[in-house]
Amino acid sequence: MSFLLPKPGGEFLTLGIMGGTFDPIHIGHLVTAEEARQQFALDYVVFIPAGAPPHKDAQKISSAEHRYMMTMLAVVDNPYFTVSRLEIERQKPSYTIDTVRSFFQIYKEQLKLYFITGADAILDIITWKNYETLLDSCFFIAASRPGYAFSKLKVVLGPAFPRVIQKVHLLEIPAMAISSTFIRRRVAEGKTIKYLTPEAVEQYIYKNRLYVNEKQSINRF
Ligand code: ATP
Ligand code: MG
Repeated sequence: MSFLLPKPGGEFLTLGIMGGTFDPIHIGHLVTAEEARQQFALDYVVFIPAGAPPHKDAQKISSAEHRYMMTMLAVVDNPYFTVSRLEIERQKPSYTIDTVRSFFQIYKEQLKLYFITGADAILDIITWKNYETLLDSCFFIAASRPGYAFSKLKVVLGPAFPRVIQKVHLLEIPAMAISSTFIRRRVAEGKTIKYLTPEAVEQYIYKNRLYVNEKQSINRF
């Protein structure tokens, strides 16, 4: 991570970080990250595959190394995208607050941090560890996702809504009803996944025979 150097002259480094299971990464993630980068003038977007996701621990997930490799393959042609091993090298469950703290430890006050999520994930925010501290330390970009209307935010967040929404920017992106669950299921059914994920990721999935036995593929979306 230290290869992302702060800008000279005390200027802020503006980073977007996108956490996820990325099992596998797909064009929904990539389009969202690229749109966020442009709209919020981010210097880089750092993809952070989760090690042991606290919300998904009960389900079967591909190994961290497979998910890391696929994420690397997917971002290699974008000079503004990079991948961090921060969470996969942590042995315990990875909480967003710990990740955010690690970034601030490296860049001190020279960092402006945007956490990029889909609208579904931002709805989980109040269940996150130390969400108040999280809101104090970074901004959020919540991207539209089919099935998750922004209007739901107010209802779901309840009394926390005014505080949360101050730090959350809503990002309209071309709606893409695509999820990793959808891709895993299609692979298991022998259906094509061409154009749903970069070609290198598609080849990696076949080469390593990922998702072939995803019989009762659980929808984790
Ligand atoms: P799964 O189906 O396994 O849950 P997923 O497609 O939801 O996978 P995750 O790795 O869970 O992918 O998501 C990482 C982040 O990317 C989350 O913040 C999620 O909301 C966001 N995201 C995933 N797919 C999309 C999409 N099509 N549009 C916008 N955001 C998305
Ligand atoms: Mg998901």
